[in-house]
Amino acid sequence: MSRGRSTRIIHPLTRSSRKFQSLATPIYRGSTVVFDTLAEASERHGDPEQYRYGLAGTPTSRELEIRLAEIEGASQVLLVPSGLAAISLVMLGLAKAGAHILIPDNVYGPTRRLGQTFLNRFQVAVEFYDPLIGEGIANLIRDTTALVWTESPGSITMEVQDIPAICAAARAKGVPVAIDNTYGAGMLFDSFAAGVDVSVQALTKYQAGHGDLLMGSVATRDDKLGKRLAADHKTLGLGVSPDECALVLRGMATMPLRMKHIGAAALDVALWLKAREEVESVLHPALPDCGGHDVWKRDWNGSAGIFSFVARDWSRAQVETFVDALELFKIGFSWGGPVSLVFAYEGLPRPTPEQGDRLVRLSIGLEDVEDLKADLDQAFARANAL
Ligand SMILES: *Cc1c(COP(=O)(O)O)cnc(C)c1O
Repeated sequence: MSRGRSTRIIHPLTRSSRKFQSLATPIYRGSTVVFDTLAEASERHGDPEQYRYGLAGTPTSRELEIRLAEIEGASQVLLVPSGLAAISLVMLGLAKAGAHILIPDNVYGPTRRLGQTFLNRFQVAVEFYDPLIGEGIANLIRDTTALVWTESPGSITMEVQDIPAICAAARAKGVPVAIDNTYGAGMLFDSFAAGVDVSVQALTKYQAGHGDLLMGSVATRDDKLGKRLAADHKTLGLGVSPDECALVLRGMATMPLRMKHIGAAALDVALWLKAREEVESVLHPALPDCGGHDVWKRDWNGSAGIFSFVARDWSRAQVETFVDALELFKIGFSWGGPVSLVFAYEGLPRPTPEQGDRLVRLSIGLEDVEDLKADLDQAFARANAL
């Protein structure tokens, strides 16, 4: 029986050859995964290595997971639609009603909001601690503590945490430690060697590297913990697009080169800023003004492109004039792409509430460093003239 045209378009009699091997990872799109028999569908059930439904992964997303696991030395990586989704997966996965979670006080703003709103609604007690507490974390751990969250360096004020000391103290009490490892991108800091149980990253930043997509990852080494988070990942329905996985794979090929360049350029600009009259302090992990600088020297093998400086004696109007006068540095959130960015947060309570209003955060991109300095120089002149 000959089939109609619509049917033949959808079920073609012949297909192009699949024998094609390029060096790029193919983009496999698909919600439905088909099986030859019902028996095969049930055989694949519960086997995470097998494809069963697009939400649980495609060969494209698997390839990205494998490469990320290799960089971080993880045994499992889960991909989620954003860095923030990676954070919420870990928090929701490890918390339960009545539990207590410790979060550093300088944490990425949306992580704080997640703790204060969502987790509170489910009767999870969230306590914020001094990021430089080190082994002193032991005194804050309760019988109900389900997770110690860390982020190093911390957002905006860049404090470097003593992760080995925090992990040792938490391990002694059987409490898992998670790190927001976005700054190091799995390249500059070996979080698993330092003792963490879960390493979370915003791939949005250096892995994607071009400011054109959002994605996050949750890496684990422990099988039991990995299985638990994988089950919650599935339950919550956190899938990612294969097209975006392919873009991250493309970005990762140049990540070491980009990070090397950006790290050196950012340090160059940071030292240049430190020598300026207008600058009170430069909060860059490789500089002594930064909290935890000694820990950085001990534990890290480099620095990345984002840091802040506190201007001396500037009014808020001068801060705003400086930021608005910049031409190459664009005003915007996120970082890790080719374009340098700037932001100044109003009412920031850190390092002190008074200094917070004079803090400017810079993210160094791939422009010529001398042009970036010239841009900063003309903006300083505009702010000074006020
Ligand atoms: C950007 C960022 C995130 C969130 O990543 P998104 O992909 O933008 O959700 C989390 N943590 C840190 C430290 C970040 O800088």
